[in-house]
Amino acid sequence: MSALVIESDTFSYSLHYSAKRRSVALQIKQGKLTVRAPFGYSLTDIKTLVAQKQPWIVKHLQHSEQQTKPDWLMQQQVPMLGTMMPLQLRSGVKSQVQHVDNSLIITVSTRTAAQNVQRRALVLIQQWYQQQAVSWFSERVAYWQGRMQLQAGPVIIGNWQTKWGYCKHNTELGFNRRLLMAPAWVADYVVVHELAHLKHLNHSPRFWQLVRQHYPQAEQAKSWLRQQHQQMEL
Ligand SMILES: [Zn+2]
Repeated sequence: MSALVIESDTFSYSLHYSAKRRSVALQIKQGKLTVRAPFGYSLTDIKTLVAQKQPWIVKHLQHSEQQTKPDWLMQQQVPMLGTMMPLQLRSGVKSQVQHVDNSLIITVSTRTAAQNVQRRALVLIQQWYQQQAVSWFSERVAYWQGRMQLQAGPVIIGNWQTKWGYCKHNTELGFNRRLLMAPAWVADYVVVHELAHLKHLNHSPRFWQLVRQHYPQAEQAKSWLRQQHQQMEL
């Protein structure tokens, strides 16, 4: 049976019609809303019903999204520029992260209370991503600005919920450290994108032309980020 995908202001959902149903049902699973309705039920009525239920839907979608955040500690691995790095959690004298043979050893100090160990380990991993991002993005900016014949200012690394990067009037560039959870070719696209803003501080056709000229896989990288951003959470 085919499903219709409907966009509302704040979310999209799939609509399934069924001969067996007698009433409309809303279901939220893994951050997605599905609406099931009996045959003959009008699309307008369904949209009205969904609009009435919007506060409930938004609340549950957010909750469901939080639950689908990957649990890297449980999976014992983290994504790093296209590979999965094995992760080991230990306790020791001093909290630290060691990068040994392409795996990460996270040591949480024995002084940390048991209920805080997971939280502490996550903070250590975040700090490690931050450090890696500082050196990786500095190197990539140096490489791409040479190829694009542009000159960037300071490179800032952050962890923003709503952006992958930015370019300021003063030529400062910012990059989201979570980009290291994507393959290198995707993170590189963001570097080229922000560098291109040094020339065009907008998303005009000339801007996109410059991006594509240096980075033909720009569209694939954009769609990768759209599809996989939920897997890029720490
Ligand atoms: Zn942009």
